[in-house]
Amino acid sequence: MGIFSKPSLRSQDRRDDMPEGLWNKCPECGAMVHNLELQQNLHVCPHCSHHFLIGSRERILMLADTGSFEETETNLISANPLGFQGYAEKTAALRAKTGLDDAVVSGRLSIDGNRAMIAVMDFKFFAGSMGSVVGEKITRAIETAIAEKRGVIIVSASSGARMQEGMLSLMQMAKTCGALARLSEAKLPFISLLTHPTTGGVTASFATIGDINLAEPKCMIGFAGPRVVKETTHQNLPPGFQTAEFMLEHGLVDAIVHRGKLRERLASLLSYMMPR
Ligand SMILES: [Zn+2]
Repeated sequence: MGIFSKPSLRSQDRRDDMPEGLWNKCPECGAMVHNLELQQNLHVCPHCSHHFLIGSRERILMLADTGSFEETETNLISANPLGFQGYAEKTAALRAKTGLDDAVVSGRLSIDGNRAMIAVMDFKFFAGSMGSVVGEKITRAIETAIAEKRGVIIVSASSGARMQEGMLSLMQMAKTCGALARLSEAKLPFISLLTHPTTGGVTASFATIGDINLAEPKCMIGFAGPRVVKETTHQNLPPGFQTAEFMLEHGLVDAIVHRGKLRERLASLLSYMMPR
């Protein structure tokens, strides 16, 4: 137990706005949007195109051909290798609350007939942090893709490595990238989709090394948060710093795709890179 109470690190302008309840206030334009309307519009604000966070299962439903998704690696659950106080209880509570095993869902699917493996991170499980289960599921998805000659799509939404698993979290960065190198040797494509927010160890590993890196409009992409960068470098940050648009301008991202066009774009990229 610390002597001092911890200051809240939650800033006022954070966009971690998973829609909840019947009416949702758009953080961008302030309009009240009914949940049903939001669902029908792929969780995009009909007034200003603000992209709300969406869960992994909703994302898969949105992308996969009907009935094509087949989930893999459903029995992996985090251990508590460091004996981190309260970690086992927290992950158990999150599993019960979200119905997810951990912060990623993986599986086989087809998108407009193009077969692929997909791994979709879920921000509502431990802020999408990457511990050993996330790294392992992503690695196994890539290995399955190599065995079955499929392309790989990884959708990122993450606060970075999960500090409660220490080094075991950090080594997932090298492990996932190693698997992607083998995918590349097998001449199979990897499409990375960065969504709000993609930060920390996920940005610094698999999320930014796609053959094609796509991003959703205005999503935050960075390593450390802007407040930390500003305090460390003592410099004012340029306008639009760490947004998808900034990253497009600076070459980290190849294209920004509106959620409504995503399925179509992924299908055409897969068909270019993996002729049937
Ligand atoms: Zn709006």
